[in-house]
Amino acid sequence: MYYGWFDPTYILLIIGAGLCLLASARVRTTAAKYSKVRAASGMTGEQTALRILRAAGIQDVQVVPVQGSLTDHYDPSSRRVCLSEEVYNRSSITAVGIAAHECGHAIQHEENYAPLSIRTAIVPAANIGSQLAWPLFFIGIILSMRPLLTFGILLFSLAVLFQLVTLPVEFNASGRALKMLEGTGILSPDENKQVKSVLTAAALTYVAALASSVLQLLRMVILAGGRRRDD
Ligand SMILES: [Zn+2]
Repeated sequence: MYYGWFDPTYILLIIGAGLCLLASARVRTTAAKYSKVRAASGMTGEQTALRILRAAGIQDVQVVPVQGSLTDHYDPSSRRVCLSEEVYNRSSITAVGIAAHECGHAIQHEENYAPLSIRTAIVPAANIGSQLAWPLFFIGIILSMRPLLTFGILLFSLAVLFQLVTLPVEFNASGRALKMLEGTGILSPDENKQVKSVLTAAALTYVAALASSVLQLLRMVILAGGRRRDD
């Protein structure tokens, strides 16, 4: 297959990158907008997290501050809800929403929520897959070695699978967060709608990441197919 200097499958990469950029721009503007809106209860991210965890009957999960921006996460190995400083100390809609979302992951862990367990189990394989897939694939292209092309595609599929399993985990954590915020009365119904728009924007970044990976996988399949016709 001869394309001259232009490989048309680059279009797939550009579409994927565009989707990711749009999603991350949207989450940044939404989070910034509601980080200026103070929750009426005045509860900080830390207080929100503690209240939700206790309401869920979880006593042994710690809530700790971590450095950086958008570094919020739940660490299942140390059983800690780690909140960035602007979430930990602030009582904005964004801070409360993110704190509640991370607690959603802690509750998933407590309940052995299946997609979370699957996701944790495939992390090592997915990491290897995403690092080695393209290098092996390109060596396969250069050397015209079909088994390497197939192996590269299989490895990359592991990374795609990881991103696919991430979707239910993230959407479910946000669903739990909204339910807990409503149930505990931390936020008013109107405030809950605002939190929902922040969490939905955040979840869409995972959808965009998956779409971008699926497009990359498609590109590999097209390139491998073209290579096959060359032989
Ligand atoms: Zn999450």
